[in-house]
Amino acid sequence: MSLARKHILNIVPYESGKPIEELKRQLNLKEVIKLASNENPLGVSPRAQEAIRKNLSKINRYPDSRCFYLKKRLAEFYNLKSDNFVLGNGSDELIDIIIKTFVEEDEHIITADFTFLEYKIIASVKDRTVIVVPIKYFKYDLDAIRKKIDKKTKVIFIANPNNPTGTYVTKYEIEEFIRDLPEDVLLVMDEAYDTFVDVDDFPQSLKYLNKKNVIVLKTFSKAYGLAGLRVGYSISNPELASYMEITRQPFNVNSLAQAAAIAALDDKEFLKKTRSTILEGKNYIYDVLKKIGLAYVPSVANFILIDVGKDGTDVFRAMLKYGVIVRDMRQYGMKNFIRVTIGTKKENERFVRVLKKVLQA
Ligand SMILES: *Cc1c(COP(=O)(O)O)cnc(C)c1O
Repeated sequence: MSLARKHILNIVPYESGKPIEELKRQLNLKEVIKLASNENPLGVSPRAQEAIRKNLSKINRYPDSRCFYLKKRLAEFYNLKSDNFVLGNGSDELIDIIIKTFVEEDEHIITADFTFLEYKIIASVKDRTVIVVPIKYFKYDLDAIRKKIDKKTKVIFIANPNNPTGTYVTKYEIEEFIRDLPEDVLLVMDEAYDTFVDVDDFPQSLKYLNKKNVIVLKTFSKAYGLAGLRVGYSISNPELASYMEITRQPFNVNSLAQAAAIAALDDKEFLKKTRSTILEGKNYIYDVLKKIGLAYVPSVANFILIDVGKDGTDVFRAMLKYGVIVRDMRQYGMKNFIRVTIGTKKENERFVRVLKKVLQA
């Protein structure tokens, strides 16, 4: 007999990208690169590092529970008010906060089948029902989602750009979708990768905040290079934010994260370099994939979903032996795929070398 609540026993926990140190330990390797979790390959913004050093001597104190200065800075950045923001221990925590704040026991969540796994996992932990709608041509199918909305629907999660496909829904698609969205349904636009996007028809989601019940999620983990510190945030109208403020843990964002996030937001140079590194790297990898005849999904984010034409888990495992960690897509149920995060030039070249070697074997 188990002491855990019954529904907990059926949940497959989130499998994170393999940490570098773990692979070094397991295979006794010296040089390992990780292209598995869509992190920033350029390291940490020098300004953020300086902010962390300055605040190190103060961590005997609890962090500012209200994240006053970070909210103030974000409000300036987006030309909004502090009460439009809720900070979280990564945007992962905001997904958790949203579900526990808004979704009653008998209400439903809708998302896509091949998308960020955390929506489904966090909902399962909270024993909430998730309706998954198949993606179409690797994209969120908003028409199909619209058809699934009924009286029980409470929250719709859309990752835009989508992870793991790297595709996006356009502003035209989302505007039509929002127009028809019932007043009592919340739309969550998870924009973890928006900083990498360079297309004109990507939605400016902040325009929708006052039209319907829209919550936009952003994170410092990807382009801003602070994945290890855990800081993300939601942007919404103040009323929705005020409910989320009730359910979050009081000290959910630590003081180093708050200081570093403010500094990272100001480091335009680091961000610019990050974006150009990703664009160049992505084009390089696209070229190679075309040459060796592998299909891939064109991506507006900092990763590429690749059809390796055979079992992706085998390819993932074989690459590990050469010290290259990519993302195994098994947990996503995408059998012949791997997902690779764009790295530095050197890392991309090593990825290509090892991929070729493994596929030839
Ligand atoms: C990486 C990722 C997140 C999580 O980011 P954190 O802020 O590190 O929790 C959220 N959504 C998507 C789609 C992601 O890929």
